[in-house]
Amino acid sequence: MSARRFLSIGECMVELSQAGDGLLRKGFAGDTFNTAWYARACLAADWSVDYFTALGDDAMSDEMVAFIDKSGIGTSLIRRIRGRTPGLYMINLKDGERSFSYWRDNSAARSLAADPDRVREAVESADVVYFSGITLAILPREDAATLLAEIRRAKAAGKLVVFDPNIRPRLWASYDVMHTTISEGARSSVLVMPSFDDEAAHFGDDSIDATIHRYKALGAVNIVVKNGADGVRLNFAGEETFVPAEKVKKVVDTTSAGDSFNGAFLSRYLETGDAPAAARFAAGVAARVVSEHGALVVKEKLGLSGGRARA
Ligand code: ADP
Repeated sequence: MSARRFLSIGECMVELSQAGDGLLRKGFAGDTFNTAWYARACLAADWSVDYFTALGDDAMSDEMVAFIDKSGIGTSLIRRIRGRTPGLYMINLKDGERSFSYWRDNSAARSLAADPDRVREAVESADVVYFSGITLAILPREDAATLLAEIRRAKAAGKLVVFDPNIRPRLWASYDVMHTTISEGARSSVLVMPSFDDEAAHFGDDSIDATIHRYKALGAVNIVVKNGADGVRLNFAGEETFVPAEKVKKVVDTTSAGDSFNGAFLSRYLETGDAPAAARFAAGVAARVVSEHGALVVKEKLGLSGGRARA
């Protein structure tokens, strides 16, 4: 079978987490990168997974590229911009509760779509294109328009374009811009994978049906609505299915639950076209992810059985 390419577009950040005694542990994570990580873990070896972002020319950018590369994810499309640095976030722990501080306002990734030729080259090279509301939120408005135009071309060319709205109001200039741009992201996509709690909170949806109808009306063909421990609802070409979440003994850390679900779901869906089976598989992977610390759980702990994950 000829090589096929899964391309994820967005921002990967430096992550600092508490390591005790005032020490911080350094890692790398970000929604679209996390999904690329799980897609890579679950896809067969005849798929390549690439990450498209922009980084700087400092040592931390070099280290991030080396980390991405070591994860088996292609880095050849990444823009490097002189004088810029990656975004950074810190996970704070107080009385067992986690909160996040971000330093990403001037990250190199904000310029990932500033060169339209590079965007076109990256999107044209892919068979599947994945992006999120966070990808759109961090871009200057004209660059978001550049990226969306290329994404619409990919959709028109028959490629699978996948969008997770991943709504983060504080990244947006206003609710109005957020609603308009996220709706435009969904309109430009084939498959939309929202989380119901975000959609209810920020689009006012009073039911999962309302979320499905809203995205259908925008022109998304297929929808997967994630609803935490209450499972997922699928609407593929009008056909509805419910897939429950897997029971988890102890939820340790829900970071990246949705991102891992998306990566695992897509890996199976791309192989088989069977969306309900892909969702059952993804529920298993996400259950293991919420049972472990951190955004990126290594493949060995994901319970990928039967040699299905050959990457
Ligand atoms: P997001 O992280 O985007 O908000 P969700 O919270 O809906 O996404 O979680 C995505 C998937 O992760 C769910 O569909 C489910 O399979 C799994 N998941 C999340 N929380 C739990 C949980 N408490 N128990 C079991 N599975 C869970």
